[in-house]
Amino acid sequence: MEQYATPINQLIEELSRLPGVGRKTAQRLAFHIIEMKNEQVIKLAQSIVDAKKMIRFCSICGNLTDQETCNICQRENRDPSMICVVEDARDVAAMERTKEFKGFYHVLHGTISPMEGIGPDDINIKGLLSRLDENVQEVILATNPTIEGEATAMYIARMVKPLGIAVSRIAHGIPIGGDIEYADEVTLVKALEGRKTL
Ligand code: ZN
Repeated sequence: MEQYATPINQLIEELSRLPGVGRKTAQRLAFHIIEMKNEQVIKLAQSIVDAKKMIRFCSICGNLTDQETCNICQRENRDPSMICVVEDARDVAAMERTKEFKGFYHVLHGTISPMEGIGPDDINIKGLLSRLDENVQEVILATNPTIEGEATAMYIARMVKPLGIAVSRIAHGIPIGGDIEYADEVTLVKALEGRKTL
């Protein structure tokens, strides 16, 4: 630990807990914050507290929202026959950027991972099953092409297919082990178009 005053050390410590922020970046950010104007720092701190306080999961799809339901679930011009299942809310944003998918989403908030002790009941699968009414004709599984993502897709397919609803898996334009969140729009559109019925 560098010989900074304790509050600076603490700030560096907290910043370095953020994803993608190494020790050096944390130091740079900490010193930047110290040099910022008071009101700017308060604005920054307040926006973090506000976001954490106001953002919650959409009661229908699990997407992030500051209301009871998210802005996608509230829209009436979406296609209720399709539900695209993704691992987290960032994947919704990635799919929305393609402007290709017109259905609704369902956010699992994770994947089944026996290694980490995460079972089907630990992610938002029950919520998905409860949404499958007569309007839904296809469930598109857009979990990441990782071992956990594939296992989760297979599990959901096994649960949904007996209900007489088509289940498809997005194609592998996305590299194995890759992340939908970081896929470019063309790759995502291709993956969506090339989806295969399971
Ligand atoms: Zn929603």
